[in-house]
Amino acid sequence: MIIVLKPGTTKEQADELLSKIEAQGLKSLYMPGSERTVLGALGDERVLAKLHFESHPLVESVTPVLAPYKLVSREMHPHDTVVQIGPLSIGGDRFAVIAGPCSVENHEQMLETARGVKAAGAGALRGGAFKPRTSPYAFQGMGEEGLKILRDVGDKHEMPVVTEVMDPRQVDLVCKYADMLQIGARNMQNFSLLRAASRSGKPILLKRGAGATIEEWLMAAEYILAEGNPNVVLCERGIRTFERATRHTLDLNAVVMVRERTHLPVIVDPSHAAGLRSLVVPLSLGSLAAGASGLIVEVHPDPASAMSDGAQSLDLPMFADLAARVHPGRHARARLAVGS
Ligand code: PEP
Ligand code: MN
Repeated sequence: MIIVLKPGTTKEQADELLSKIEAQGLKSLYMPGSERTVLGALGDERVLAKLHFESHPLVESVTPVLAPYKLVSREMHPHDTVVQIGPLSIGGDRFAVIAGPCSVENHEQMLETARGVKAAGAGALRGGAFKPRTSPYAFQGMGEEGLKILRDVGDKHEMPVVTEVMDPRQVDLVCKYADMLQIGARNMQNFSLLRAASRSGKPILLKRGAGATIEEWLMAAEYILAEGNPNVVLCERGIRTFERATRHTLDLNAVVMVRERTHLPVIVDPSHAAGLRSLVVPLSLGSLAAGASGLIVEVHPDPASAMSDGAQSLDLPMFADLAARVHPGRHARARLAVGS
């Protein structure tokens, strides 16, 4: 619940209320404001009700947070969260673009990709070293060797790097090399992974499960915040529908809705949503119009030879065209207003 304190309440008085909340085994939040201090109390509804904050002399109002997710809800935190990955901000008024291949394959491929996407304006480099593949016989990623290449190339091109972690036991290893941990669609509800990734303190890119509802996705984000890490970027990457002409179906409803309901930034992965490169640019522009804070796009210097997801990967000239159209680094809203 959200507890608004009366104007003039001192820090000491607020602290007393906070200890009262915590003494009940509840989680407390302290949000000082210029006019009014706001406290949050999270936990079992029955315990909360027994505290009777509504009749406390220092309390102006008490509002229950009705959504099942609390820390990620906009009610609890009205302002947009901006997540920082090195120099790249996600969630501010600039449109962030993360680009790179599905899988790290070798040094040369990563160097060529990084050089091209950085010149075009990408703010971070992606590349998978641990790959969640449908077939156990498909390329599973280069593992730690791939992480080393990604780190080295990121450093050479001064780009923060994003890569997937698939297992709680890999978190420490991946953290040695990555600036942001990606939790993939297949692992969105791997709760021990969510907790372990949260505890690492690294910013987390939380992809939506292909069969997950918006509420399930936000509850997964709640696990990460509840474990102490507020730096979560949501990623809509397409959901499974009856339509088989494309790999998945991009759910732009979800982009608009999570912006209404949460303070967390949301970006779009048009590559996995479409599965086909010809759709990637139009879906990216649609995502920008729908209010996404950025994109994560698969790019390969020679998509025909890619070891995974070649059909949906842009080549470098196609990415440069996309980047020019979304103008990374300029103000997204202003850009839409002038219709460029
Ligand atoms: C990926 O980013 O390469 C990937 C496997 O994504 P997803 O988890 O969205 O399928
Ligand atoms: Mn991929």
